[in-house]
Amino acid sequence: MTEYRAPLADMRFVLNELAGLDAVAQLPGFDEVSPDLVDAILEQAGKLGAEVLAPLNRSGDIEGCQLENGVVRTPKGFPEAYAQFIEGGWNGIPFDPDYGGQGLPWLVTTAVYEIWHAANMAFALCPTLTQAAVELLSVHGSDGLKAVFMEKLVSGVWAGTMNLTEPQAGSDLSKIRTQAVRDGEGYLISGHKIFITHGEHDFTENIVHMVLARTPGGADGIKGLSLFVVPKFLVKDDGSPGPRNDLRCVSLEHKMGINASPTCVMSFGDGGGA
Ligand SMILES: Cc1cc2nc3c(=O)[nH]c(=O)nc-3n(C[C@H](O)[C@H](O)[C@H](O)COP(=O)(O)OP(=O)(O)OC[C@H]3O[C@@H](n4cnc5c(N)ncnc54)[C@H](O)[C@@H]3O)c2cc1C
Repeated sequence: MTEYRAPLADMRFVLNELAGLDAVAQLPGFDEVSPDLVDAILEQAGKLGAEVLAPLNRSGDIEGCQLENGVVRTPKGFPEAYAQFIEGGWNGIPFDPDYGGQGLPWLVTTAVYEIWHAANMAFALCPTLTQAAVELLSVHGSDGLKAVFMEKLVSGVWAGTMNLTEPQAGSDLSKIRTQAVRDGEGYLISGHKIFITHGEHDFTENIVHMVLARTPGGADGIKGLSLFVVPKFLVKDDGSPGPRNDLRCVSLEHKMGINASPTCVMSFGDGGGA
C-alpha cells in the first residue's frame, strides 16, 4: 500500500509564492494569520491525514458501508477518526468564531481539505458536505435557523447534507417532485432523493438535510423550488436532538465506487411528512 505523506513543501510554495498568502493575511479579521501559523496548521493536518485517515482508506474501501434497519454503519475506524477530527477543531477552520469556528482564510482551508481528500476521500466527503451546509446557512439562513444549527454544524457534532437529486431530476433540477406543504410555522416534506452523500451514517448524533422541494401551487420549473432544513432528529428547545423526524435511508447505492462513503437513497414523509 502506498504511504500518504502530505506534500507540505509544495503546499507552502503555492500558498506563499503563487497564491499570495501574505496579501490574504492583510485582509480584515486575519491579523493572526502568519506563515508560521499556517505552517503549524499544515503540519498537524498532514499528521492527521497520514496517521489517521490514510490508513483507513484501503480497509474502508474493501469493507464498505452497511445498511441494517435504516441504520448505516461506516467501516471500522471511521466513526473514531471522525471523533478525532472534530475534537481537533478541524471542522470549523474557515468559519465565524462567533459560532465556534477558527476564522481562517479559505485559502488555508482549501490546502487543508486537499490533505483530507488525498488521504481518504470517502471520509472527507462528510465534512465537505457539512461545510457546504454551513456556508448555505451563513449566507441565506434566518437568525432563527442559525441559532439552532450553526454551532453544531461548525463544530461537526452534527453533519450536513444536500438533497437535490431525484430519479427523474439529475442535471435538470426543474424536474424535482418532492413536495413541501405548509403546516403551521413549518412545512411537511415528502418525496424521494437518490445519490445522497452521507445521507445516513454513524459519525454524528444528528444529520441536517438541506432538501430542495416544491411548494404546491408554485411556479413550474426551477422557479417553484425552495430549500428546506430537515434534521434527522427534530431539535428540542434546549438545542438537543428530540424526536425522530419522518425520513430514512432506504438503500445504499451500488456500483458508485467510494465504497466507504454512504451514498444513500432517502425517503421523506412515509409517515405523513418530515
Ligand atoms: C458519488 C456521487 C455522490 C452524489 N452525491 C449527491 C448528493 O449528496 N446530493 C445530491 O443531491 N446529489 C448527489 N449526486 C447526484 C449528482 O448530483 C447527479 O448525479 C448529477 O446531478 C447528474 O445527474 P444524473 O446522474 O441524473 O445524470 P444526468 O442528468 O442524466 O446526466 C447524464 C449525462 O448527460 C449530460 N447532460 C445532462 N443534461 C444535459 C444537457 N442539457 N446538455 C448536454 N448534456 C447533458 C450530463 O453532463 C451527463 O454526462 C451524487 C452523485 C454521485 C455520483
